[in-house]
Amino acid sequence: MAMLSHTTEPVGSESLEKWESVGSGGFGHVYKARHRDWGFDVAIKLLHDGVGFYSSAPIHKEKALAEEASHMDKVSCEFVLRVYGLYEGIPPLGGLAMQKGIVMEFMGGGSVQALLQDLSGPPPWPLVFRLAHQVALGMNFLHSRNLMHHDLKPSNVLLNDEFNAKLADFGLSRVSTSALNSNNEMTGEAGGTYKYMPPEAFEASYEPVRAFDRYSYGILLWSIVTGKEPYPMAHSSLVALRIPEGDRPPCKEINHREAEGLEELVDLMKLCWDQNPSKRPTFKECLEVTEKVFSKHKKEIHGAVHLVLTRLESHTRYQHLNTRVPFSFSPETPESSKSHETMDHVRVT
Ligand code: ATP
Repeated sequence: MAMLSHTTEPVGSESLEKWESVGSGGFGHVYKARHRDWGFDVAIKLLHDGVGFYSSAPIHKEKALAEEASHMDKVSCEFVLRVYGLYEGIPPLGGLAMQKGIVMEFMGGGSVQALLQDLSGPPPWPLVFRLAHQVALGMNFLHSRNLMHHDLKPSNVLLNDEFNAKLADFGLSRVSTSALNSNNEMTGEAGGTYKYMPPEAFEASYEPVRAFDRYSYGILLWSIVTGKEPYPMAHSSLVALRIPEGDRPPCKEINHREAEGLEELVDLMKLCWDQNPSKRPTFKECLEVTEKVFSKHKKEIHGAVHLVLTRLESHTRYQHLNTRVPFSFSPETPESSKSHETMDHVRVT
């Protein structure tokens, strides 16, 4: 495949064992497998579902795959998902056809979207502040390398076993199947992406710039703080109409007294989703706020992670995670975690 000209040698099926299905998205299917030589688990995102021959993978997807691979050299950052290389082979699950895909770091904690769903609300405050900070760190790194994400949303922020965040899909997201119409034009409707798109992006002549990601970050902060999906009942065409008119998710339910630094984070969120792109702060500026507010809760992070693991231990998705109390954790529930538990919308099954 001439398009995939990256120097990394493709990973073939013979190098991988113990395949398990993880889930599907707009781009294809994701599997988990153990790399025989490396001895650890990796995630493999396949381009299509294995129906037909591999030449049937749409050109825009192959292009995106090549783009993602070429970003590998530019991005090596703790807060951006690591891509190990390309996959080419016949996977034991998912059909008999030759398939192409991308081999990535496996993230045992799932996505922020899944976490909010499984907790039926936001995580404890220390984790909220850490997620806000780690996403800003990853985005600042991407922007400093002249890369934009363009699909920053809770399902594209993945979590490791300790719920540390890494950005995913910054190459693939721009052309995921559902975001392309039959003419391969961007429609913006990629699994809720409209809701994270800035007002100016709904104009026909729009060329994406960094301010796009800054807006998405504002909406993402709202989702993490409230544990909710923005505009849950609204049809995408209504969202596309109202965002340019200035509609934003509601902030009146957020009680600033719940946690130290929350007011500053909410102020940052509102600046990020400003109607005027030039007023949105850079990620470097966001970091000044997120670092400061996270520092107020840093000591309680182990307790907060443990609390989340305990709440989620009955969910199959998290059963492989270690729910033992970290040695550095004092068994009392941290004050700032308790306060978030008392919010109405935190109902954990
Ligand atoms: P979209 O098409 O809008 O991006 P999505 O992000 O859910 O949707 P995928 O990125 O294809 O779609 O992910 C499908 C599933 O696989 C999701 O549940 C996601 O959390 C999971 N997943 C994706 N990448 C990894 C990874 N590297 N490690 C662990 N799980 C992953």
